[in-house]
Amino acid sequence: MKKSLLLLIVAAFALVLAACGSDEQAGTGGSEKTVYTVGIDTTYPPFEYEENGKYVGIDVDLINAIAEDQGFEVELKAMDFKGIIPALQAGQLDISMGGMSITEERKEVVDFTDAYFDAGVSLVIGKDNTEIQSVEDLKGKKVAVKKGTVGANYAQSIVDEIGFEIVQFDDSPSMFLEVQNGNAAALFEDYPVISYAIAQQDLGLQVVGDRLNDDQYGIGVLKGKNQEILEKINQGLKNLKENGKYQEILDKYLAAE
Ligand code: GLN
Repeated sequence: MKKSLLLLIVAAFALVLAACGSDEQAGTGGSEKTVYTVGIDTTYPPFEYEENGKYVGIDVDLINAIAEDQGFEVELKAMDFKGIIPALQAGQLDISMGGMSITEERKEVVDFTDAYFDAGVSLVIGKDNTEIQSVEDLKGKKVAVKKGTVGANYAQSIVDEIGFEIVQFDDSPSMFLEVQNGNAAALFEDYPVISYAIAQQDLGLQVVGDRLNDDQYGIGVLKGKNQEILEKINQGLKNLKENGKYQEILDKYLAAE
């Protein structure tokens, strides 16, 4: 009698513990895996976007594959790109993605993994525009940028010298629309993102000239605080490059382009 009561109490306790832990730890057959929250920009195909109610893209597949390789789990949190680093700093995220370029400025608050993709910013104009050949031709024009991006910083860095008006947007599709409907003459976007968008849909946009920089994407963690996560991601990235999975992910999204 006493023994069965004790068993009952132990069982009840185990249930309570399991319930408490469920939001932080994911149990898989008894071995608990750590769950890291990852901030992503889901308006950014082919890196991160929503399809049939699910988050997909190069970044999404990559972080999932790294997590599987390194034995952790991820919880993806969609947000505006400009909110990702502040959320990391506020402790709401463990990891930042978002097709995020590694920059010296960001390195003051973020530790980046090894680079995983070569990007670079391009100047983008309307398909029928023959007037703008380079950034110098933006003089007196309206230029659309996305808040918090390298493209926005680039525009800011030349705006006084050239003299144009900057209009800011929270996401890439809204920025594209501004040039599509003729409200702005040009925009700045990462080359792989704009070329993917143009290949997928008839956006009425074209890229002019060469890339304006040679940015590379990195996965981030809060500076100085998460060396362990950083090491795991770097190791995972290395393993995926060696075993071909990394290339498989790139091909899945880019091969048809
Ligand atoms: N790669 C660019 C940056 O890091 C843009 C990223 C994005 O818009 N998601 O600023």
